[in-house]
Amino acid sequence: MTAVHVLILGPPGAGKGTQSSRIAERFDVEHVTTGDALRGNKDMDISDMDTEYDTPREYMEAGDLVPDAVVNAIVEEALQSADGYVLDGYPRNMEQADELTDMTDLDVILSLSVSRDELVDRLTGRRVCDDCGTNFHVEFDQPEDDGICDDCGGELIQREDDNEASVNNRLDVFDDNTAPVIDQYRDDEGFVEVDGEQTPDEVWADIEAAVENRT
Ligand code: AMP
Repeated sequence: MTAVHVLILGPPGAGKGTQSSRIAERFDVEHVTTGDALRGNKDMDISDMDTEYDTPREYMEAGDLVPDAVVNAIVEEALQSADGYVLDGYPRNMEQADELTDMTDLDVILSLSVSRDELVDRLTGRRVCDDCGTNFHVEFDQPEDDGICDDCGGELIQREDDNEASVNNRLDVFDDNTAPVIDQYRDDEGFVEVDGEQTPDEVWADIEAAVENRT
């Protein structure tokens, strides 16, 4: 059988990135993430797409959505070269959801739910390894040595969009644009809601069971 197609949905800070890495490893599929793809190409010239700004950087630093044409192209290319995948960070609005329907089918649609207060705490205290991308938290998940990644020794940094103003805007953008997308998937056969406020291992246990159930 072909490798599994997983979509993981949820607000910023819900743990999509962490859980997607585990899905990719456990089920031997590709981790397709628009956030990482855009962070690696923040200064690409998108002026020919008739966008308000000439690069993704301005949108991302404010916590606004990068224009659909840019992200649709990234996802289309990534999915074409992937057999199985876990898709993380897309779709974030109805137009992107319609594009995705035209691009591929989905076996499992996971939705991580976390309260807004918890998300603000998680995101504003988050620190990320500049080298390997592992997440830490100033209070809930401190590294052994201050500012240094436990996994690879890289430097821990705060993402430019993890300041309070951008975080609040990102959560508003989620409520206005992405929450309706999740509601649209709710009746699909492969839809599974997961309590994202559990420990990462408990969240993983739910996710692993849900994906196993569909493979
Ligand atoms: P993330 O790492 O998923 O939180 O994404 C970081 C930022 O990248 C977002 O706040 C957006 O500015 C941009 N971004 C990521 N995915 C998308 C998407 N599907 N549509 C538009 N913008 C996106």
